[in-house]
Amino acid sequence: MILPGHTLGMLGGGQLGRMFTVAARTLGYRVMVLDPDSGSPAGRMADDHVHAAYGDGWALDQLAQRCAAITTEFENIPADTLRHLADRVPVRPGAAALEHTQNRAREKHMIRRAGLDTAPFEVVASADQVEAAFQSVGDPAILKRAALGYDGKGQVSVDSAEACRRAFERLGRVPCVLERKLDLAVEISVVLSRGSDGVCLCYPVAENIHRGGILHMSIVPARVPDATVREACDAAIALAVALDYVGLMAVEFFITTEGQLLVNEVAPRPHNSGHFTLDACITSQFEQQVRALCGLPFGDTHLLSPVVMVNLLGDLWTDGEPDWGMLLSHPRAKLHLYGKEEARPGRKMGHFCVLDTHQDQAIADAERLFDALP
Ligand code: ADP
Ligand code: MG
Repeated sequence: MILPGHTLGMLGGGQLGRMFTVAARTLGYRVMVLDPDSGSPAGRMADDHVHAAYGDGWALDQLAQRCAAITTEFENIPADTLRHLADRVPVRPGAAALEHTQNRAREKHMIRRAGLDTAPFEVVASADQVEAAFQSVGDPAILKRAALGYDGKGQVSVDSAEACRRAFERLGRVPCVLERKLDLAVEISVVLSRGSDGVCLCYPVAENIHRGGILHMSIVPARVPDATVREACDAAIALAVALDYVGLMAVEFFITTEGQLLVNEVAPRPHNSGHFTLDACITSQFEQQVRALCGLPFGDTHLLSPVVMVNLLGDLWTDGEPDWGMLLSHPRAKLHLYGKEEARPGRKMGHFCVLDTHQDQAIADAERLFDALP
């Protein structure tokens, strides 16, 4: 067990790293963040901020020397960086788990090997594979770059082999996955933690509403049958076991209009759809990440109240800082801003949660507060 007073390393300085840093420091740990950006949201909250590239040998030496254990908030940390560090200090999750989620093709194969279903897909590595892939997957489809996509970026909807060929060019002829575009009834996600002893603990399932490929709102508990909740939690645990995962992770699911539960993707880190845990659970996903990293017993994941989380994207900042008056006046709304200097359209700048014993009221209030923003 790594106890408070030790220093924990965080690879990545975004909002997920920031909320980890706050949770860790609250428990009495020191935190050292590695991120190339000198103004990174997590770096500003940390005891130490090394601004260097993720492969910088000197920076990695600093982390290995000073940290009792190291984790990440970003799946695209180079696996070599994790391996290099893991020779000297515990790194959780490990390089292999991250590698499986860095590439959509590898990820989907891993999901199927674990005995779970995904949308029909084919790998497209070159232009001459487009035709056969499109025939196999069916119409309509989505071409997604295999690596480095997020928040719906690097994805193109296609309705013909020709459109798919153009999309492949547009994405820069990089390796892609072509996936059937499904009729979705609802999307849900499960955040869970797994300890080095194999103990798994799931959070309440979130129902997720996306706009333009980016998460807009999470409603918890999800309005799906109990059997679906159990099926999703079992699937998430099966994936954590298949990855031999130690740490906190999330699994996104599709539920089709025909009622089929499919795994969409795995995030080897805290998840946007788990931000509700900060305000509505006994233990937040970030505290749980600290606990998993340090080998502490897990905290209770129970939901204290129905809750709705809404993302605040940079689009709201077009005319300067939004007027937070109404949000701050609501007695059951909780505002979280990430301290990012530059507000770009689509950039996650913050979120808020609304808690209410009546779920319908929480949803109505969240929508009203969001609509009142610019
Ligand atoms: P990202 O890594 O950007 O989150 P996702 O694959 O999760 O990529 O896609 C983002 C969103 O786009 C999904 O949450 C879903 O709303 C929509 N989407 C993605 N793939 C499909 C699909 N095959 N069918 C229908 N909708 C999809
Ligand atoms: Mg996603």
